[in-house]
Amino acid sequence: MTINTTGGRITEAELGRTLMHEHVLAGYPGWYMDTRLPPFRRADALSRTVDAFARLHDYGVRTVVDPCPSDLGRDIEFCAEVSQRSGVTLICTTGVYTEAFGIPYTFRHLETGAIEEIYIREIEDGIGSSGIRAGLIKIATGDGAVSEYERRMLTAAASAAKATGVPLISHTENCSCGHDQIDIVTGNGVAAHRLLVGHCDGRDDHAYQASLAARGAYVGFDRFGLEVFNSDANRMRNLKQMIDAGYRDQMIVSQDKVNCWLGNIPGVGSADDIARMVPNWTMTHLFERIFPELLRMGVAQADLDALLVDNPRRFFSGDAPRMAASS
Ligand SMILES: [Zn+2]
Repeated sequence: MTINTTGGRITEAELGRTLMHEHVLAGYPGWYMDTRLPPFRRADALSRTVDAFARLHDYGVRTVVDPCPSDLGRDIEFCAEVSQRSGVTLICTTGVYTEAFGIPYTFRHLETGAIEEIYIREIEDGIGSSGIRAGLIKIATGDGAVSEYERRMLTAAASAAKATGVPLISHTENCSCGHDQIDIVTGNGVAAHRLLVGHCDGRDDHAYQASLAARGAYVGFDRFGLEVFNSDANRMRNLKQMIDAGYRDQMIVSQDKVNCWLGNIPGVGSADDIARMVPNWTMTHLFERIFPELLRMGVAQADLDALLVDNPRRFFSGDAPRMAASS
């Protein structure tokens, strides 16, 4: 299985230490319409992000997945330059965000087959005229229920995943709809272990987390440091519970850090406001605080290696994880 990166194709053996959910750059639809804000300074943003990725490289991280959907300011050339200058391999995605927070208008009127065709083109031919191919498909569902629009996007994504062999990475709201995502993906002929259900660490809810793993999906604890939704203490305790329950090989850890915000975050404020609210939400938070604490809690170094190296590699390879014996 070869993997599309912003710098060309690699094999899963070349991934190395991998963070599966970090953002180079993101902006909510219409961010540029608030003309009171200072303009986006691309060169400054680029050098800041290259520095952040270089620090990650110092911790041995060789690959980052940026699951920015195409409607949240995805900038593939910017990503390619960050990768080139930092030495960290970047993998980008095709796919769209939730109906509430994305841009459904342009896609709502396209047939499911047309959406699938767009996704396949971005995976096989490249994004726009960049020649850079998407390595995964992003799917997203809203809070509590999957809308008709989201259901069609997920159906198209599953079909495109089946046609191309790339895996799926998801956004969920408030730890809901993970099972709906698995239902739609598997219902369209894609195995559950080709789906990484994102943001499952948003609530102290081991039963929900374990129930997703029991169905064979990968489970993302991918918002370490973003303590507005849940505390890192809860996340670490829940992660250890998952490891102790035998689900280590399906766990993925990351931070969902946004390195560059385009415009403000609606209802929250500016990038500086966020930095003040969640001071630990950095690209190296896992290495500086979380992994040392997990080791103190009795998690083994071999477990951390599985989370950072073996699980991302197996996820991309398409091999099924070794499942915990069901009780
Ligand atoms: Zn994200």
